[in-house]
Amino acid sequence: MKSKGIKAFVDFIGKDIGGEHEFQKITVIIRIILISLMVYFTANMIVCDVTFTTPYILLFYGVFLLSFVGIFFLSYHCVTHVVLWCFNLSTMIWLVAIVQFFGWNIGVQHFLMPLVMLYFFAIEKHYVRKVLYAVFITFCRILLFFIYNKKTPVWQLSGGEENILQILNTITIFWCISVIAYICSRNSQEMEEKLIEYNSQLQSQVNTDTLTGLFSRRKALEYMDWIVTESKWKNCFCLCICDIDHFKNVNDTYGHDMGDEVLKAVAGVLEAEVYGSNLAARWGGEEFLLLFPGHGGSEVYDRLERLRKRIGEMRVTVGDAAIGVTMTFGLAEYNAQNGLNATIKEADRKLYQGKKSGRNTVVF
Ligand code: GH3
Ligand code: MG
Ligand code: MG
Repeated sequence: MKSKGIKAFVDFIGKDIGGEHEFQKITVIIRIILISLMVYFTANMIVCDVTFTTPYILLFYGVFLLSFVGIFFLSYHCVTHVVLWCFNLSTMIWLVAIVQFFGWNIGVQHFLMPLVMLYFFAIEKHYVRKVLYAVFITFCRILLFFIYNKKTPVWQLSGGEENILQILNTITIFWCISVIAYICSRNSQEMEEKLIEYNSQLQSQVNTDTLTGLFSRRKALEYMDWIVTESKWKNCFCLCICDIDHFKNVNDTYGHDMGDEVLKAVAGVLEAEVYGSNLAARWGGEEFLLLFPGHGGSEVYDRLERLRKRIGEMRVTVGDAAIGVTMTFGLAEYNAQNGLNATIKEADRKLYQGKKSGRNTVVF
């Protein structure tokens, strides 16, 4: 749980940021970087105040500190685009000035890297401009190197002082890069996670029948396809299509809600019967499909007989009404020579045969 202080800080940093938008994410980054740079400038002022006697250094840092404070408050009143360009411009001026005053060895020139990163993540949507900007920054970096590498700095630092500023710069630069990378990668990571979640939700919606919770016709077809092509049961597999008898009467007499309850109850009994590699699916309307990979016809026939009896004994209650239903089953054994479609047709034909011969029966 976030403490009150952290929450207030997070609210302050994210203020005036409405919906999800690329620039808004960048506004947060820029504010964090600006606050970090304010701390960085203050630390620099403390180090330099201890080291140098000249007040110009404090003035120098003071000016940039104030300009970044200004940009920070600008971020609450101006569009991100303007804030970013102000930030870019003052960072460039500050870098050139600092390299000139303290020389090349304190490593401040590496602050150009976060600028490139920011540009790639946010400001410009055109790739050509992004590449041109990166080339421009690289050029500035090389130019700075040739101008100031061999030049004696305005304010000469001792080895120890150089080390302190080098460490301070390294920490701040790595921090800024991490902030950019963290916030930008978090967004894409979140999106990727959401996509995976939506995908699996979609997958389970497509594979499941909403009313009964059984597998859908699509999933059953996919599973049958797998059984006959890839599984170890491709030569021993039974398929059954079963249908509730006179189901239309249930709807007509007791209403659609009762019809739905009957479908759910039947589905529950069918599901309880299938386990392991077996599968029960809603084939459509009040028709169901049962798959028994690895089981022979006569064994499945016995199971279906038991199932038929169990369904006949079942009672479904809605309000005051309690009713029972019967089912007819058409069972077919898979034959690789004829193929899957022929087996489905055969099961369907046997179901029809069962209906014609008086229903509430298993035909094999
Ligand atoms: P038979 O014994 O020959 O199978 O007769 P039947 O009345 O069961 O078959 P018929 O095809 O005439 O009617 C099936 C009915 O199933 C018609 C349709 O309204 C109903 N039905 C299909 N899906 C649903 C559903 O999701 N819920 C409800 N309540 N009824 C459904
Ligand atoms: Mg029916
Ligand atoms: Mg039917």
